Parts: sequence; structure tokens; C-alpha cells
Amino acid sequence: MRILITGGAGFIGSHLAETLVNKGKFVTVIDNLSTGSVENIIHLKKNKKFKFYLGSILNNKLMERLVSGCDIVYHLAAAVGVKYVIDNPMESIEINVKGTENVLEKANKLGKKKVIIASTSEIYGKDRPGIKSFKETDDRLLGTTTISRWSYSCSKALDEFLALAYFREKKLPITILRYFNTCGPRQTGRYGMVIPRFVKQALLNKQITVYGDGKQTRCFMHVKDAVRATIDLANSKVAVGEVYNIGNPQSISINDLAAKVIKMTKSISKIAHIPYEKAYEKGFEDMRHRKPDISKIKKLIGFKPQHIMDNILKDVINYYKD
Ligand code: UDP
Repeated sequence: MRILITGGAGFIGSHLAETLVNKGKFVTVIDNLSTGSVENIIHLKKNKKFKFYLGSILNNKLMERLVSGCDIVYHLAAAVGVKYVIDNPMESIEINVKGTENVLEKANKLGKKKVIIASTSEIYGKDRPGIKSFKETDDRLLGTTTISRWSYSCSKALDEFLALAYFREKKLPITILRYFNTCGPRQTGRYGMVIPRFVKQALLNKQITVYGDGKQTRCFMHVKDAVRATIDLANSKVAVGEVYNIGNPQSISINDLAAKVIKMTKSISKIAHIPYEKAYEKGFEDMRHRKPDISKIKKLIGFKPQHIMDNILKDVINYYKD
């Protein structure tokens, strides 16, 4: 089995590459290092079954070569992070829309290769009364187009529509995975993700920057759980043409998360509440609560997250201490 991972030098991509190489698979990674890093895959480079290409998924020639040489594509290359998307709206839309179009087009043309599409819980948009957790078939509720954040949800939704269209019209085998907040070693806080930011702030005894009132809640999943679910779904025939949530339904408020990080790092940091508009952009909208309904993935592959919040934080703290 020869595997191509787009965005394989990124946070989830590098863990996926590592796991697949350890399983004895031939893994090729393409990454333009816009948000990924060579550091994430440097330890894999000496393995004969691993190859890294520095390049863009928009490069037609390179993509033709890489897709024709593989049996399956894990398409993870995308703009990541709320902050990154707000700071780089053009690049984010372009890479999500044109990049995915290119991957699907090549996979279809060069032997109908299976494509695993990494999507996101941002797809669901804002939470709303009456909905406690998001199911794959739920409606989506987005804000206006002048708020950049929502472009990410739209561009990823277009990826999903296109992948499903390829499945229906061309019989291209695809599976769509909607990752909820995923964390672990190698994740950087540079693009806005809360856990690496809090851990770094706490280790440096700096202010912990809680945005808004901190009563918003999220459900965090260890990247190891995400990778296991990703591979199991990619190996499933039943998952073809389907969309799956991948997440850990245990929820925590951002205030509680900040307190936990301070306690676990034995930090003397204090919590500072920062208005959203100062942290992101004017008119910024956050979702108050976001929780995955994982009954669909549980039914198919028996998925059950194995790592609780404390494990996730322990691993991230050790990573940053190193
Ligand atoms: N957040 C925060 N401080 C930070 C970074 C993020 O309070 O330094 C908040 C953010 O506003 C959101 C939550 O933490 O309510 C999760 O943010 P993240 O960007 O990690 O993920 P997402 O917003 O996509 O759920």
C-alpha cells in the first residue's frame, strides 16, 4: 500500500505519517510548509519507506506524479487555525478550494484513487438553542461574509460538496472526516489554537489570554485518537461516500482549561480576559459550545476516544518543556 499525505508535515499529518510508516507502509508527503514544519517529520526522513516533497498541491505536474504513484490519498493540506484564516483569507480560500479540486481531479483521472478528505467541525458554524451536539446531518448556521472566520467553513463545505459530487458522478471513492478540536505534541499556537498557546504562556509564567468571558466550551481530542480513527475509516469500504465526525465529546470551558493548565504546569500565571475584537477582528463571532455527536463513527468502527483531557495536557506540556 503506497500512501500519499498532502499536508503531511503539519500537526495531524505528521502524526498520521509516523503511524503509517510504523505500520510498514510506504508514505509520501507533500507539504508547502506554509503552516507545517520539517521539524515534524525530520525523524521520518531516514526511513526508506518515507519520502518528502516540498511543494504545493496546486502544482499540476508534481501532483500528477505523486497521485499516480500512490494507492490512496489522505488530503490534509489546508489552511489551519482561526487566527491564520483571518490573517490570510485569500490564501486560505485558494488552497482549500483549488487545492482540493486539484487533488480530486488527479485522483479521478489517474486510476480512481481513494481520497480521504480532512474537513472540520467549523462546517457546523454557530451553535444554537436545542442542539447539544453536532450530528453529521445537522444544518449549518454561518454569519455574514464580512466576518472572515466564516470563509473557512464555506471553503471546507465546498470541498465536501465537490468530493461528494465526484463520488456520485464519477464513482470516485472518497470519505470525509470532520475533525473537532484536536490537540497534542507538535501543534503550534502560532495560528491561534488555544491549548499550545495556554501551555506556552503558563510555562513562561506569562498571562493566560482567555478570549471573551471564557465560558465558551470546547471538546478536545488527542491527536493519537484522531489518527487511529482516520486510518480505521480509510480502511472501511462502508465509509466510502460518507461523512464522519471525529472528536472527543468530553467538554470543558476555556476558563476551566486555563485553570487546569496553570495547575498542571505549577505556573504563577494569571488569567487575563481579552475581548474577541482585540484578539481577532472587528465583529468576530465565536461559537459558545461545540460538541461532536460520535454515534456514527462509533457504530461503524467502534471508535472510543482513549485520551482524556489530562493526558492531552500532559503530552503537550512535556512537548513544550522539551
Ligand atoms: N481562545 C482563547 N485564548 C487563546 C486562543 C483561543 O481563549 O489564546 C479561545 C477561542 O476564542 C475559542 C477557544 O479558545 O473560544 C478555542 O479556540 P481554538 O482557536 O483553539 O479553536 P476553535 O475556535 O476553532 O474551536
